[in-house]
Amino acid sequence: MKKDYYDVLEVEKNATQEDIKRAYRRLARRYHPDMNSGDKEAGNRFKEINEAYKVLSDPQKRSTYDRFGHAAFDSRASQGAGGFGRDYDPFGGGFNDFGDLFDMFFGGSTRSRRRERASYGAKGADVVQEVTLEFEEAATGTEREITFQRMEHCPECHGVGGKKKVSCPHCRGTGETRHTQTSLFGSMTVSRPCVSCQGRGWMAEDQCTACRGNGKVRRKRTIKIRIPAGVDNGFRLRVSGEGEAGPNQGPSGDLYISIRVKPHPQLERKGKDLYYDLEVSYPQLVLGDEVEVPTLQGNETIRIPAGTNGNTTLRMRGKGLVDPQTGLRGDEILRVKLRVPRHVSGEHRRLLEQLLQLERGNKNPSGNGSRGRGGLFDRLKEAFTQPGS
Ligand SMILES: [Zn+2]
Ligand SMILES: [Zn+2]
Repeated sequence: MKKDYYDVLEVEKNATQEDIKRAYRRLARRYHPDMNSGDKEAGNRFKEINEAYKVLSDPQKRSTYDRFGHAAFDSRASQGAGGFGRDYDPFGGGFNDFGDLFDMFFGGSTRSRRRERASYGAKGADVVQEVTLEFEEAATGTEREITFQRMEHCPECHGVGGKKKVSCPHCRGTGETRHTQTSLFGSMTVSRPCVSCQGRGWMAEDQCTACRGNGKVRRKRTIKIRIPAGVDNGFRLRVSGEGEAGPNQGPSGDLYISIRVKPHPQLERKGKDLYYDLEVSYPQLVLGDEVEVPTLQGNETIRIPAGTNGNTTLRMRGKGLVDPQTGLRGDEILRVKLRVPRHVSGEHRRLLEQLLQLERGNKNPSGNGSRGRGGLFDRLKEAFTQPGS
């Protein structure tokens, strides 16, 4: 009867991955064949330890083992592995790839062979294409026709490279060749992709003239793409299957559209919000006023409330951009800035001096007094808000 994997590694059923690793290192060192030359018992023990570690160190295999015991793995084990010795370094990092090791113990190299062969019909390379949008186009979303170069399967031979496919004589169509390797534990047979056909199992005969046997040709391609509203600089759009053709009739890669957005002449974008510096005069802040501000939908009139502070912000809800990921709309934020004229003359100056006198004479600087003289403020406001003043 087969020994329990936990007993083999001398750990408890609830041992952590760290415990298992430590136990494995300790035991592997003790029973390593290099340390026990010719000792068959040690060799078997070493094999057991590795087998147990292989299962218990993989959380998925461990849980399968916990539920079904050896039965879960025996059918694979009975297919009979050759020896070991590949990619193995018990005193370093252990196995490079546990998947490979697992195949080595349980039934040869079927899995790694499948993985290797997969790369021969692998996905083609991705293509990146840059698209520059006007600010408004990015805000509303748009459609664009884009033209780019890519490798496509040759239309004459459909990617074969010749008029017909013939079975590779070197590997007899299997795509792999078998080699016997001698290692610490005896000899084992490994499979490698066939060098003559690069693992395809077939060769092209009667070379295609359109692609000179390459199977692929460079082609210009034009497609129409829909760009969602709200995209920002650096946004990447994936168009699946529009990249380069895969090698050996493999599937195509993807096309990535990298978005650039031209800046808006007046509005500054931060995420889905827009910012605008709104310069106003002192009387506009004190008395309130209506002003025009640029928005995505053109100029709009907004009201500055009376008594607005210098350095503050006013928010225009829902006047920002749509976030293409969440669909939420941002705001436009007005950064209110007090505009102080460098030169004042005439009526302007006269009124300001009057105001200054008034403030100086005001016994109560926090001042309700000044508000009452509406006539002066109205004139002041007019003087300040006149265009070109
Ligand atoms: Zn071959
Ligand atoms: Zn061709």
